[in-house]
Amino acid sequence: MSARTATSPGLLERLDAGPVICAEGYLFELERRGYVQAGAFVPEVVLEHPEKVYELHREFVHAGSDVVEAFTYYSHREKMRVIGKEHLLEPMNRNALKIAAEVATENGALLAGNICNTNVWEPDDARTQAAARNMFEEQIGWAVDAGVDFIIGETFCWVDEALAALQIIQATGKPAVITFALDADGLHDGADGVTACRKLADAGAEVVGLNCSRGPATMLPIVTEIRAAVSCHVAALPVPYRTNPNVPTFQLLNDEGCGCIPGSGTFPTALDPFVCNRYEIAEFAKDAHGNGISYLGLCCGAGPHHVRSMAEALGRKPGASRYSPDMSKHAYQGTDENVPDYYKNLGKMYE
Ligand SMILES: [Zn+2]
Repeated sequence: MSARTATSPGLLERLDAGPVICAEGYLFELERRGYVQAGAFVPEVVLEHPEKVYELHREFVHAGSDVVEAFTYYSHREKMRVIGKEHLLEPMNRNALKIAAEVATENGALLAGNICNTNVWEPDDARTQAAARNMFEEQIGWAVDAGVDFIIGETFCWVDEALAALQIIQATGKPAVITFALDADGLHDGADGVTACRKLADAGAEVVGLNCSRGPATMLPIVTEIRAAVSCHVAALPVPYRTNPNVPTFQLLNDEGCGCIPGSGTFPTALDPFVCNRYEIAEFAKDAHGNGISYLGLCCGAGPHHVRSMAEALGRKPGASRYSPDMSKHAYQGTDENVPDYYKNLGKMYE
């Protein structure tokens, strides 16, 4: 029996009525805030500083997210093994789901369970594939116990791993949102994004698409092709970084002007110079929605201001819009009658 009743309207009803926004990017945002370690990227914060997770969920909903996604990304058995904390696997998942459920319920938002790339899946290896299936089963079981409205399986790089995840989600009766992280050359198995999504759609996923890896400029053309290739809903959750046709993923962005970055590139901790501004995110949201993409969001690197911009571009006015920019009362650049003319004149230096 579920701990909570289903949110109404549910995901599919909302998607039929208009776009749904799902804020992601918890790992990067909480890493910047000092509560997640870059590298392993395991969200121990859900046990160590749960108040920070409540806060970020609330900020994303305030900014316009329709979905509270339980922060269970990389809270799977393999990651817990890598950091030597398998004993925390169940408490981390259950606590993440409890936190997300509370925030979803207080706001009438959808509650999403989350599974992802297992990092054990190998092609033609029944043993690793069985291990991955077990990982999906245990995490999905906890999500169902918590009463999630739907389940997100994301950042997959193997079609067959995503199909295995979908099959296990389908056994619960919950809608599935399945997204791939597309490298410059496609997935690890050589599939391109369109082929991969078509296979998942044919297998019955309610929503298919892409998340992570690519910024707006290099994700939009591909999700637009996916839109034409499937009949189900399509998802696009880019990273908010300025990727381009020559550098299609954020893992490849290279900051040639900076010589002090440790390691080989800017990923994942020195991507700052490439962050999209909020207006670029608004453009992406309008274009993607105009192209028929109905499940929209942002992945690693996104902050609440990006989410608000996406929501406003789709015609929404979330709580955070109360604080959307209004330069009319700025000390120098303001146009309001209460701003002294002397300072308005000084403000001309900014023009
Ligand atoms: Zn991401």
